[in-house]
Amino acid sequence: MNNKNESLSSCARRVPTSGTMRMAVLAKELEVKGKKIIHLGIGEPNFHTPKKIIEAAYQAMNDGKTGYTTSRGILPLREKIAEVHMKDTAVDINPKENVILTPGAKASLFAAIVSILDPSDNMVVVSPYWPSYEGIAQFIGATTKSVQAHYDDFGFPSETIKEAIDKNTKILLINSPSNPTGVIYDLESLKFISDISTDNDLYIITDEIYKKIVFEGKYHQYLSVSKSLERTLVIDGFSKSHAMTGWRIGYTIGNKEIISAMNKIQQNVSTCVNTPTQYAALKAIELEEPTRKMVQEYKQRRDKAIELIEQCDNFSCRKPDGAFYLFIKYDADIESEDLVLKILQEAGVAVTAGSVFSVDEKYFRLSLASEMEDILEGLRRIDDLITKIK
Ligand code: PMP
Ligand code: GLU
Repeated sequence: MNNKNESLSSCARRVPTSGTMRMAVLAKELEVKGKKIIHLGIGEPNFHTPKKIIEAAYQAMNDGKTGYTTSRGILPLREKIAEVHMKDTAVDINPKENVILTPGAKASLFAAIVSILDPSDNMVVVSPYWPSYEGIAQFIGATTKSVQAHYDDFGFPSETIKEAIDKNTKILLINSPSNPTGVIYDLESLKFISDISTDNDLYIITDEIYKKIVFEGKYHQYLSVSKSLERTLVIDGFSKSHAMTGWRIGYTIGNKEIISAMNKIQQNVSTCVNTPTQYAALKAIELEEPTRKMVQEYKQRRDKAIELIEQCDNFSCRKPDGAFYLFIKYDADIESEDLVLKILQEAGVAVTAGSVFSVDEKYFRLSLASEMEDILEGLRRIDDLITKIK
C-alpha cells in the first residue's frame, strides 16, 4: 500500500481524466497566474439562464420545495418530457416507468451504460466521439469499439459498423447532432441503425443533448424511427438548450427495466436531482424562444468563423449542421495534443485537441459558445502560430 496508486481500486485506476475538462483546468490555472485566456475550449453556452427559469427555481424554494423528491424526479416534469416526446415521435411513453431525471445528461449516460454493460461486454461508438462515453465504459472495465466516420462528411459509417459488432456488443451509442463534428444523421442512417439494433439485439443509446441546436436540414429523433422503447434509450437535458450547465439536470427516456436499474443506481448515489432545479426545468421545457435566439447567434458565429477559416491556408472545416463546435483540420507537423498546449501557452487560446475525441488525424475543436470577437481573434492567433511553427 506504499505506492499511492496501488491503494486505489481498479475502478478508480481505470477511469480516465475527462479530456474536455482537463483543458478547462489548464486554462484556469494560467488565468490564476494572470494570463489572459480566450476560452474556446469547453462546450458551455456563454448565455445566462433565462430569467423565467431562475424565477421558477426561486419560487419553488420560497414555496418550501427544498427537500428530496422521489429518485426518478418530480412527476409533472416527467409527464411533460413524456408528452413532448410522444408528440414528436408518436411513441407511447409512460412517465412513471419510462422516464428518469438525473443530475445532468452525463449522469444519465453513466447510469444507463453501467446498467447494461458487464466487464466482458463492449459498446460500439462512431469516432470522433465525446470522451466520457469511453470514460464510463472504462470505469466498468468494458471495452469501447470505435468505428471511424467518413472523414469527408463525418456521415454514419454504415458499411463498416457491422464488422465491429460481435457477440459481446450490447450497445451502439450514437450522438446526433455530434459533439465534436456537428453532423446530423439522416433518416436513412437512423433506419439502418434501428435495423442493426433489432438484428443484433443491441441497445441504442442516442445522445440527443444538442437536438435543439440545429442550423440546417431536418433533425429526426431516433425514437421516431425505432418506434419502440424496447431497445432505445434517449439521453437529453437542459444544459445546452437552456444554458443550464451548472444546474445539473438531464434525463433518460427508455426501456422500463433499464430505467428501473438506473433508478436503483441513483437511489444509492445522488438520491435525486436538486429539487429547485427540477422546478426550473419544468419552466424551461415550455420556453422555446430563448433557445431559438441562442441558435440564431451560434449560426451567425459559425458562418463568420467558417468565412475566416476559408481565408486561412492552415485550416479546413466542414460546416457543422448542428451543436456548437467547429472540428477544424490543421496543416502542420505536430500532434493535436502538443498543438493545443502550444496554442494555450503561446497564443493564450483554449481549444480542445482532436485526440480527446479519439482522432489521430490533425484536428482541434473550437467551441462557438463564446463571443464572436473572441472566436475570430482566437482563430487568427492560432493561424499565426501554425504559420510560425510550420
Ligand atoms: N453528451 C454530450 C455529447 C455532451 O457534449 C455533454 C456535455 N455537456 C453531455 C452529454 C453532458 O451534458 P450535461 O451533463 O451537462 O447535461
Ligand atoms: N460537453 C462539454 C464539452 O464537450 C462540456 C464538458 C463535459 O461535459 O465534458 O466540452
